[in-house]
Amino acid sequence: MPTRTDAPLCAGVELGGTKCICVLGTGPEDIRAEVRVETRAPAGTLAALARTVSQWCAGHPVRALGIASFGPADLDPRSAHYGSLVGTPKPGWDAIPIVAAFRPLGIPIGFDTDVNAAALAEGQWGGARGLDAFAYVTVGTGIGAGSVVGGHSLRGLSHGEAGHMRIARLAGDTWPGSCPFHGDCAEGLASGPAIQARTGMPAATLPAEHPAWDAVAHALGGLFHNLVLATVPERILVGGGVVAHQPQLLPRVRTALVRSLNGYAHGARIARAPEQFLCPPQLGERAGSLGAIALAQRTLR
Ligand code: ADP
Ligand code: ZN
Repeated sequence: MPTRTDAPLCAGVELGGTKCICVLGTGPEDIRAEVRVETRAPAGTLAALARTVSQWCAGHPVRALGIASFGPADLDPRSAHYGSLVGTPKPGWDAIPIVAAFRPLGIPIGFDTDVNAAALAEGQWGGARGLDAFAYVTVGTGIGAGSVVGGHSLRGLSHGEAGHMRIARLAGDTWPGSCPFHGDCAEGLASGPAIQARTGMPAATLPAEHPAWDAVAHALGGLFHNLVLATVPERILVGGGVVAHQPQLLPRVRTALVRSLNGYAHGARIARAPEQFLCPPQLGERAGSLGAIALAQRTLR
């Protein structure tokens, strides 16, 4: 039996590149309904998601909706394009208004990126509870980073795109990288598709001793070096298919990070216990959909 809580009942939509998940509940111990919808053309997909939430609203006192979306998305409430995707490479989805598709529901709507939402969920219910500043990074089909500082996801002109930071290359590595925008940015060196482009083998079939993992660990170590120095997280939770399925990788990334920081500034604190700094997320694959619930609840505060 789910545990009932005092938290407000909300709906959440996690909009992903291949599938979307709608959830109804108050938190991880109290999810009352869950519906998966395949991500196809925008109009039909958004209509199916809105229909699901609308049915829940008709039968339950749903207070708010949260949408955790793939990006890039416009998060600036002052912008005419707030709530839309902007410049997304996903065919057919660029400039599609996401939030507007749910406005007819008539309930408050929170909107953020999937990784910012996952970070908020980890802060509320998972591996970043009690921390003031932390990040959630997924290394999968792409590399996405969500940052929370002082209880809020980092937003400005838009959301962060730390997965596309340029980083120092492993000595002797001249492979150009696979990012269509930047070549050898972090995503272009260490995402699942980048590993496959470099080796000709899917990341899942690459043996743990393959030298490509050195380049991947180095690239992720460099990404976290920059993130640590620029946004001072107290912990970074690292998930996504590449890291989750390669248990040898995170220890190697910790070593690369510690070596790269070289004891400078707060790097010394990280070096004392890197396994408590770079950690797997606690909510696992549920972080995104629970993040959508967290976004909804935040609109009510
Ligand atoms: P997404 O990023 O699309 O949300 P995931 O986080 O599950 O989804 O990441 C999918 C990626 O994980 C794929 O691109 C694939 O390259 C990679 N992957 C899947 N299984 C493994 C594995 N066993 N080892 C390394 N990488 C894997
Ligand atoms: Zn890039």
